[in-house]
Amino acid sequence: MEKIALLNKYGLFDAKVPRYTSYPPANHFENGVGPRHQDSWLRAVPDGAEISVYVHIPFCKRLCWFCACRTQGTRTLRPVDAYVEVLKAEITKVRSKLPKGVKMARLHLGGGTPTILSANTMRDFLGSIFGAFERTATHEFSVEIDPTEASTELLDTLVEFGLNRASIGVQDFAEHVQDAIGRPQNFEQTARVVTHLRAAGVPSINMDLLYGLPTQTHQSFHATINQVLKMRPDRLAIYGYAHVPWMSKRQVMINEADLPKPITRFELAEIAQRRFVDAGYGMIGIDHFALATDSLFDADARGQLRRNFQGYTDDTADTLIGFGASAISKFREGFIQNAPSTSAYQERIADTGFAGHKGYVMSDHDLLVAQMVEDLMCRFAIDDKKLMAAFPDQETVIRQTVVSLMNEFQDLLFIGKEGLMLRHQAYALVRIIAKRIDDFTSVGESHSAAV
Ligand code: SF4
Repeated sequence: MEKIALLNKYGLFDAKVPRYTSYPPANHFENGVGPRHQDSWLRAVPDGAEISVYVHIPFCKRLCWFCACRTQGTRTLRPVDAYVEVLKAEITKVRSKLPKGVKMARLHLGGGTPTILSANTMRDFLGSIFGAFERTATHEFSVEIDPTEASTELLDTLVEFGLNRASIGVQDFAEHVQDAIGRPQNFEQTARVVTHLRAAGVPSINMDLLYGLPTQTHQSFHATINQVLKMRPDRLAIYGYAHVPWMSKRQVMINEADLPKPITRFELAEIAQRRFVDAGYGMIGIDHFALATDSLFDADARGQLRRNFQGYTDDTADTLIGFGASAISKFREGFIQNAPSTSAYQERIADTGFAGHKGYVMSDHDLLVAQMVEDLMCRFAIDDKKLMAAFPDQETVIRQTVVSLMNEFQDLLFIGKEGLMLRHQAYALVRIIAKRIDDFTSVGESHSAAV
């Protein structure tokens, strides 16, 4: 069957499904999981464990219309500086609960706009967090950088503290697209930041693009890709724009009539895939690309790709600690999300030192489903033998799931060396298949388009 007909048969162009950056997705987190769990799960992290840390900076100088991130606009740095003081208090509290020998293998600053911090505040903050957590020898320090905001002094401060992966949001360089999404960012300023970081010795540059944006055309997207390839980032991610104005009020500024049709969205994604692969990038999962020198490429080749809130990753840590408003922590036992608004977050830290307001306690069944979803998303396979070895009490569920999937997706799946495997042609359907494994997802919830 022709590829588009096959994808259409399984509803790719209409389906709304979770991105499965976590299992269960964050909209299934429950009230009643909070500081008490946080306290005991932090204490239960094994001494000597290597953990990952995420810090959320929920402020931006401008609010781009397309963006559904949890962030607030500010014209002054006063609320940002006050927030950083609260972050430092949260870090002190959390660190005091973790065993002494725990080390930090990764630190990622995301937002919002982490580069909104002044160089002085950033220096103070990084001094605190690196003072609290000893780093591993192969530590990764990554920051989301807004090229329209980051001063040279700030970039140099990040480099001084060991920045080794810079993540730069591009979205699209076409002026008409930027006008339609309320985000001016030209190629020259982006290229200047990339050149500066490389000259300063930052070894890895990531870039994110969006397809499905208003007024985007095949031709304009080719032009953006040409400009991106000139900068030769080490790693790329291309995401579909999710138009959810009922969840992200800013998106009402976007003219719905300018949005590309689902088939055009699909074609734009295919253009990016073809162009990046032709330019020497390996395709990683469904939406990432990496040069052979990048660690993500290596993790994929070794079958060790993982899924986290940033998408695909080579991070192998079992524990992720999230600091800041709305940040999510992941433990073996479950998830905890901090209070989403900066005011509620700050109040909670002032009251108890912890900001967890909801979360999820993983059952054995959840752990199995999470593993199946991650295997499918990362390896396009469900290895029933490996799963049975890891979850011996749940053999029946594993067998039943494999049989049900085989029955429902006969022309997409086959039995291969890694168990139940997805045909290459059908990779774009992986989230739809994952949804069938997911007991939690029910019709009518607000998810993003499958393409
Ligand atoms: S795209 Fe970046 S700068 Fe724009 S609103 Fe979102 S987080 Fe802020």
